[in-house]
Amino acid sequence: MAELTIGSHISSAGGYEAMGKRAVKMNANTFAFFTRNPRGGKAKEIQQEDVERYKDIAREHEFGKIVAHAPYTMNACAAKEDLREFAKNILTDDLKRMDYIPGNYYNFHPGSHVGQGAQTGIEKIAQVLNAVLNPEWNTTVLLETMAGKGTEVGRNFEEIRQIMDLVECREKLGVCMDTCHLWDGGYDIVHDLDGVLEEFDSIIGLEHLKAVHLNDSKNPLGSHKDRHEKIGEGHIGLDALAAVVQHPRLRHLPFILETPNDEAGWAEEIRTLRDICGDS
Ligand code: FE
Ligand code: FE
Ligand code: ZN
Repeated sequence: MAELTIGSHISSAGGYEAMGKRAVKMNANTFAFFTRNPRGGKAKEIQQEDVERYKDIAREHEFGKIVAHAPYTMNACAAKEDLREFAKNILTDDLKRMDYIPGNYYNFHPGSHVGQGAQTGIEKIAQVLNAVLNPEWNTTVLLETMAGKGTEVGRNFEEIRQIMDLVECREKLGVCMDTCHLWDGGYDIVHDLDGVLEEFDSIIGLEHLKAVHLNDSKNPLGSHKDRHEKIGEGHIGLDALAAVVQHPRLRHLPFILETPNDEAGWAEEIRTLRDICGDS
């Protein structure tokens, strides 16, 4: 079995079996996908037979947990109530859909407070999560660490922690760390990965970290830009990203590439990282 659990964000076209095949083709053993059009809209109906065929592929190729991504249009801390209601509906519908493939992850951007202030944003995000999360869902919902672009909430570990503290159903909540966002947010994972992880551990707790988005960044440390770059072609660089996937406190996690690539490019990045880790 491959040591590293790694894959990329792939197109959901064709359904689950098609995604599984696409992942296998690029030597991935996890992947991410949008549960619906990333700009919003109605989700396609799920076919049970398609899900069963996918599960066979996942079993045969020993996939780790997969990491679905919520649409970007969802803003759980929007100023307008109907938009927060929309976020609740999307989340509920997506969790219903995720129950076809129980035991996986669903990652979302906490939201943008659009001038209401981070504190108000944090409270509204927690309200949405409290309205939706319950122990019956078979999916863990992950808050993504953000770059702090515009009025994004979740721009540092403290804000993620504050959201978590207000959520009642903590057993269904975790965190997804995005390396580009961390870097753009001012966390120096190039020169002090251990220090950043210690900080994460003391503020959030590393036991809550469930997945990593592995991206290079087009911009320097603390730029708050959120522009992903191919692995090794940005300001973070291959050595630092290789240290992330090999880190003893991280290497058991699913790593998801969200780099500006096509499937051949992701396959290449997966090969590079597997080689570094000594994976066959
Ligand atoms: Fe994301
Ligand atoms: Fe990400
Ligand atoms: Zn990003």
